[in-house]
Amino acid sequence: MSAGTASKPHLTRETIVAFLGDIFERRGGEEYLGEPVTMAEHMLQGAHFAEKAGEREEVIVAALLHDIGHFTSEFGTFSMADTQDRHHEDAGAEVLAPFFPSLVTDCVKYHVAAKRYLCATRPAYFKRLSEASVHSLKLQGGPMNDGEVAEFEKNPNLADIIKVRHYDEAGKQAGLQTRPFSHYAPMVQRVVDAHCGG
Ligand code: FE
Repeated sequence: MSAGTASKPHLTRETIVAFLGDIFERRGGEEYLGEPVTMAEHMLQGAHFAEKAGEREEVIVAALLHDIGHFTSEFGTFSMADTQDRHHEDAGAEVLAPFFPSLVTDCVKYHVAAKRYLCATRPAYFKRLSEASVHSLKLQGGPMNDGEVAEFEKNPNLADIIKVRHYDEAGKQAGLQTRPFSHYAPMVQRVVDAHCGG
């Protein structure tokens, strides 16, 4: 293994949940740049709000895992030439894709696009963004243009993608207590098993 690269972990439906839990455990304390919560707090808060709203398990799991791509170095895809955190949504969706339904992977893959979509279509939404989120919006291409909006609206999972985006925004509250990853692990496994065939 050369310096700056990680070997690609061999993941199966039996190991994927432990793999994800281990990332929360070891890396979850890392700062979520510009926000008053850690990465784990942010994702657990997203899941907390989805669960509280009575969402389906796939949506709760999507909220829980939406930013997992921030830990790309865990996926064996990281190299020193990478620009940090660039396209984390694609990296996250890619590692989840073999094990999760498209509803989950689309919510992960398009949570950044959803912000650009909402800024273009719902002017009031922009005011709700955190300072860090406004800053990253610029780097992500700003609000969508009309063509991008029309294209985005073709996604059959649009409604759930938007929901997860709102849980993402909600999950930035300093000091809010949530349940740990272990609370969600059986639910994550159920979603994996349903997708991978019982
Ligand atoms: Fe997020």
